[in-house]
Amino acid sequence: MTAAIIDGRAVAKRVQSEIRAGADQAAARLGRRPGLGVVLVGDDPASAMYVRMKQRACDRVGIQSSASILPASAAQSEVENAVRAFNADAAIDGILVQLPLPFSIDEAAVLNAIGLSKDVDGIHPVNLGRLGMRGREPTFTPATPTGVMRLIAESGIELAGKEAVVIGRSNIVGLPIALMLTNADATVTRCHSRTVDLPLVTRRADVVVAAVGQPELVKADWLKPGAVVIDVGSNAVPDPASEKGYRYVGDVDFAQAQAVAGWLTKVPGGVGPMTIAMLLANTLKAAQT
Ligand code: NDP
Repeated sequence: MTAAIIDGRAVAKRVQSEIRAGADQAAARLGRRPGLGVVLVGDDPASAMYVRMKQRACDRVGIQSSASILPASAAQSEVENAVRAFNADAAIDGILVQLPLPFSIDEAAVLNAIGLSKDVDGIHPVNLGRLGMRGREPTFTPATPTGVMRLIAESGIELAGKEAVVIGRSNIVGLPIALMLTNADATVTRCHSRTVDLPLVTRRADVVVAAVGQPELVKADWLKPGAVVIDVGSNAVPDPASEKGYRYVGDVDFAQAQAVAGWLTKVPGGVGPMTIAMLLANTLKAAQT
């Protein structure tokens, strides 16, 4: 079997053109472009790169982005005040705090400061709590898991009654994706670093979502033939043949998985582009409500 590739770039492009049209309509109604406020603390190059990518994506779809950039030495109150300033700014519809924050900063307190109506990253505890409760609707759902669900839906894959295994239980990816798969009526098992015999668990899954941060961890013999495999991982590994000296691989051994899986995402070009597209979609939604 050769897996069908789920093309995140193509789906993200479609989503972005929908957002562009929606942003133009919102701008005509509001008299301003929808606005995203980004808080970046410290000088981590990867975080700075992600912020630049998000700002460029905003430009492409007609969303106005503003950044509040603070040094790594910023006090807790300064970071929270940057969030509160965006809460109070009528031209800002959504707020993104780029994670991770420096160790000296209490991340939970900063995220709690985001106004619920502007939580376009969907990680305020109230939004995550609502996601896990029956009959409650979160205002926003986190970008990466929402992108994963959209990729699955766009591929015409039915989740009801399927066995799904999520590897990873972080607040931003593993937890919400497990909740969203449950809400889509899959039967979900959550795995983590203390799971005993991970391959035994993944082999029974119709759907595997890997959000681990371990390069090419998931091998061919971990997978049930025909399984849907969504690779969230994004890991830089040394590559002397590349100009930069490194390249990105996922948490799934792509070459091996391709021979067994029914559906498979690539890294790069799978979940990553969808994460940004869903952040923009949430920002537009915030401007429309
Ligand atoms: P975290 O480090 O917060 O969480 C990793 C999770 O994987 C933890 O739950 C951990 O278990 C589990 N884990 C680690 N090692 C193993 C192992 N050997 N076996 C089983 N489980 C293990 O990472 P994130 O959730 O933030 O990110 C996961 C990956 O997704 C990373 O590669 C990240 O770069 C990528 N990512 C990609 C995005 C995109 O847009 N494409 C967006 C966000 C993340 P435990 O809880 O027990 O420690």
